[in-house]
Amino acid sequence: MPDIDPISLTQNLIRCPSVTPDDAGALDTLRAAIEPLGFACHRLRFSAEGTPDIDNLYARHGSGGRHFCFAGHTDVVPTGDLKGWTVDPFKAEIIDGQVYGRGAADMKGAIAAFAAAAERFLKRRGRGFDGSISLLITGDEEGPAINGTAKVLDWMKARGERIDACIVGEPTNERQLGDMAKIGRRGSMNIRLTALGQQGHVAYPHLAQNPNHLLVRMLADLTGAELDRGTEHFQPSSLQVTTIDVGNPATNVIPARATAGINIRFNDRHTSASLIEWMKQRLAAVGGRYDLEASVSGEAFFTAPGALSEIVVSSVESVVGRKPQLSTTGGTSDARFIRAHAPVIEFGLVSQTMHKVDERAAVADINNLSAIYEAMLDRFFTP
Ligand SMILES: [Zn+2]
Repeated sequence: MPDIDPISLTQNLIRCPSVTPDDAGALDTLRAAIEPLGFACHRLRFSAEGTPDIDNLYARHGSGGRHFCFAGHTDVVPTGDLKGWTVDPFKAEIIDGQVYGRGAADMKGAIAAFAAAAERFLKRRGRGFDGSISLLITGDEEGPAINGTAKVLDWMKARGERIDACIVGEPTNERQLGDMAKIGRRGSMNIRLTALGQQGHVAYPHLAQNPNHLLVRMLADLTGAELDRGTEHFQPSSLQVTTIDVGNPATNVIPARATAGINIRFNDRHTSASLIEWMKQRLAAVGGRYDLEASVSGEAFFTAPGALSEIVVSSVESVVGRKPQLSTTGGTSDARFIRAHAPVIEFGLVSQTMHKVDERAAVADINNLSAIYEAMLDRFFTP
């Protein structure tokens, strides 16, 4: 008789108000559910200057054989305006077959679904099972993601822990369970481009250098250029100017500097480094002095269709009768860190209500997702 009910575990996790960076008991709730199954649990607390300390959990069952890892996060985004909610976001009420609450879809429901799947799988396989199953759960996915998955992976590497395949339980389905899995994501980087001029009187432009004019020329060049036309699996890369800031209140002064914010979402034809190089070459051709600051949120990654995607597709199909589309759309996720360690695919619940008021997940979806995860384990560990 299984002990973990994915629905009540989802509810217990939602009842921990684990808004990043607070854990609020969420990881202990999960640990209490899986430790009795024989998972060796490591609570990993990481810190870095200027960021809050973060709790993480790495739990592994087995010490050898092939290693299947489920990755996810127990932290959630803030509720937003409580008046917009029709329920208490941390009470986890079930209404009309839906579990309501912050984190129901993103992604406490998926964590509970996997924990229950692992229990059923392990009980069925019994003592003869010689593979490894792990859960890598962070409390820092919705936040800066500095003291989370990336550091757990470093810690694992230092201990010689290797994983052979990873599923991330992000809510990947757009409308109904089984319509989409993510085999990659675009990379994202932010740039602050500052055109440098010389301040002066507008009536004496020959004695000044107008950085606004320079910035406009630079942005015209960058936004007019084509980064690529997309690939078989990716949309075209996109460069968007997000803001232009001069902050000049005077009508008779040429300012000294003008800054633009730029975000680039890029596919696997580029890296952040190659894009910075590309930009510098174009700016050199435009001419003029500038400062360029870049911060990289994540590189593009891609797990080519193969053994792992076949496991995902056939497992989904066996439970809900739909073949998921293999997509690379959407924002970044912690899969960007895992891709350096193992093939990684994201599959979880339906994304429609994530980060919104009245976030919810269907009870039937959580149960079906649990069956899908169990099918993935079966296929992965069946020689
Ligand atoms: Zn998420």
